[in-house]
Amino acid sequence: MNIMNAPSLCFATNNKGKLQEIRSLVQGFTIVSLQDINCLEELPETHETLEENSLEKASYVFNKFKISCFADDTGLEVEALGGEPGVYSARWAGPGCTPADNIQKLLSRLQGQSNRKARFRTVVTLILKGEIHAFEGIVNGTITEELRGEKGFGYDPVFIPDGETLTFAELSMEQKNKLSHRGIAVRKLVSFLQSES
Ligand code: IMP
Repeated sequence: MNIMNAPSLCFATNNKGKLQEIRSLVQGFTIVSLQDINCLEELPETHETLEENSLEKASYVFNKFKISCFADDTGLEVEALGGEPGVYSARWAGPGCTPADNIQKLLSRLQGQSNRKARFRTVVTLILKGEIHAFEGIVNGTITEELRGEKGFGYDPVFIPDGETLTFAELSMEQKNKLSHRGIAVRKLVSFLQSES
């Protein structure tokens, strides 16, 4: 397809890294950012599930800007903590907290705990031509006792995906993308979009 004729699809995120990643993966659609459509406000994220929050963000953009779009939402779900921090992963240690604060809280809540099983889960919700489609990506793993690695972001230094010995923060971005929750969900989205273009 000629890129000039490719339909536009907005990725409802302010994360430049995620935008870059998705642009390199999606063909047949021109991926535009929130800035490109002049959406400068904070998107609402008022629910208690990843499904509802990603739908809420995509619906907000679709309803206000009348453009096909998709949004993602991710959480770290720790088995021994009953699925916490889940949808609250970003600000678990309190308003204005840093990723290091969140990791500190996680390691102290798991101190002395032998069950260190956890998973990252991402839900991507797409609204295309007014129809809603959801794509889920899960990676199972374990939480380390200490931080390891410098790469990545968020909880990466304490998460070892199943089948690996290194944390996400010790793996290259390419290695992480192959295994990660977001990589899995995005690949499902991309193959759906390819079937539609
Ligand atoms: P978001 O929905 O992608 O913004 O993710 C919410 C929060 O989950 C982030 O602020 C991070 O704390 C955490 N998170 C999401 N994805 C990852 C990841 O790939 N590695 C580590 N932490 C992540």
